[in-house]
Amino acid sequence: MRWLSGSMPDVHDPATRSRNMAAIRGRDTKPELLIRSGLHRQGFRFRVNRKELPGKPDIVLSRFHAVIFVHGCFWHGHDCHLFRLPGTRTEFWTAKIGANQERDKVVGSALLSEGWRIATVWECALKGKSRIELQELLTRLTSWLRGDELLLEIRGQDVKSMRASSMHPPEATEPDPSGR
Ligand code: ZN
Repeated sequence: MRWLSGSMPDVHDPATRSRNMAAIRGRDTKPELLIRSGLHRQGFRFRVNRKELPGKPDIVLSRFHAVIFVHGCFWHGHDCHLFRLPGTRTEFWTAKIGANQERDKVVGSALLSEGWRIATVWECALKGKSRIELQELLTRLTSWLRGDELLLEIRGQDVKSMRASSMHPPEATEPDPSGR
């Protein structure tokens, strides 16, 4: 979150940035742990990173025929304030993130065809200024688990509208959040 915080210009040199990205990429990222422990507190039992399932879902609740992915907004190219295409090696990152998005689609279809339901929780729902209350997030997640909807997506709040209502005007230099 240090390097991804929304309004910061990208001032890191490439080495620092790749180090930070490597740290964020780790499997037991904090957002994922928040959801796991929240579900556990509410009595849900699950498996993690089941390698035999397409896409190795982060959390698997067999009893509910449900899998949960916690997606990093950068790696999966989310259209939110946490995503900004790096200013260097732009083509590389465009291809890399595009490939990840394509893979997400393939994985999603495969899971659905195997009878799984899929929840996607975006990183921006769990951290930074766009985050929503963990309790609210868990309520949405658990009511979906107990229901019969196939898909659920939980994303962060709209940061732009939050900023518009704050005392400070938006910075004139704010880059286009679409990242292009
Ligand atoms: Zn996001």
